Amino acid sequence: MMRDVVRYVEPYDPGLFPQDIIERYGIDRRSVINLASNESAFSPPARVVEAVQRALKSVNRYPDPKSRRLKAALSKAVGVDERQICVGAGATQLLDTACKIFLDPLDLVAMPVPTYSLYVHLAMLREARLELVETSPPDFSLDVDSFVERAKDAKMTFICSPNNPTGSVVERAALEEIAESCHGVVVVDEAYADFTRQSACDLVQSHPNLIVIRSMSKYLSLAGLRVGYAVADEEVASTMEKVRLPFSVSSLAEEAAVAALSSSKHYERAKNRIVSERDWLLSRLKSLDGIEPVPSHANFILVKVNRDVPHLVELLGKKGVLIRDLAGVIGLHGHYVRITVGTRNENLGLLQHLSAALEPS
Ligand code: PMP
Repeated sequence: MMRDVVRYVEPYDPGLFPQDIIERYGIDRRSVINLASNESAFSPPARVVEAVQRALKSVNRYPDPKSRRLKAALSKAVGVDERQICVGAGATQLLDTACKIFLDPLDLVAMPVPTYSLYVHLAMLREARLELVETSPPDFSLDVDSFVERAKDAKMTFICSPNNPTGSVVERAALEEIAESCHGVVVVDEAYADFTRQSACDLVQSHPNLIVIRSMSKYLSLAGLRVGYAVADEEVASTMEKVRLPFSVSSLAEEAAVAALSSSKHYERAKNRIVSERDWLLSRLKSLDGIEPVPSHANFILVKVNRDVPHLVELLGKKGVLIRDLAGVIGLHGHYVRITVGTRNENLGLLQHLSAALEPS
């Protein structure tokens, strides 16, 4: 009875979560160092927590179906018309919605790899064909001309910048070239763009085939509340709004997001700490034998490991340290892990257990 594709598609793999190692190794919840899912190292500011607490009193009511307060705040923050914004339950839902409105079976979907594995998952669910263009170490940078050559006839192209898991960015001029040369829609996933100084949001004015998707899970520390948005040409944004499920942004998520968007000083400080911590962590990782970290523009670091990764991840897990095993990520040859940048204490804990685990036995 089920569609064939649903039976054969691999589940999206979210990696290890604290509950996994708490159950598996009997670790105390408070001692877990979670560096596996690229969340912010910092909690949201008091203003956001208070906004959620206030909103809690009214959870017997549905949220505003038009998310008017959130859209007004986003329009101001991003500098585009409200009609060019679609909001949803995390970038995840916006990516799914974009696929829903553009992809028919056998349409071609292009993307550089390695990249965020959800794009392949969503494209496969729509029975699309894939054009996967490999980028290579050491920096996994994109050769735009040869990429465009293979992506130009795709119905949809995904570009993740900064890219998960490599941390590399696609420069603005390159994005413009991709949007101009590709005949289909170009989805730019900017889940981590707040850790850099560049965004393609304003390019949607001149490039109607561009959809920029942003997450509030990383820089804005709201992963648990599930909120994200897409910025696009008005017709595309309104079609996404029409197609995505109603009431996707909960009242708690909307109030938290509005409060977060007016707390820029807090987040700017948190970002500066994360970025300087990332650079410090990178230099410390470089000094360890047996691994090769890749410089990153995001809040995580890709690390090549010259040994058995599942064993290493398990050794760390037993010590309460969660990192992401990237086995099976398309286009990543060799053994890699991805480490989210934590607080200084968390990073010190990671370094202590990682250097012990890397010691020859
Ligand atoms: N895009 C990328 C590149 C990501 O890494 C993630 C989260 N891992 C997402 C989108 C999903 O973000 P959200 O939590 O907003 O759904």
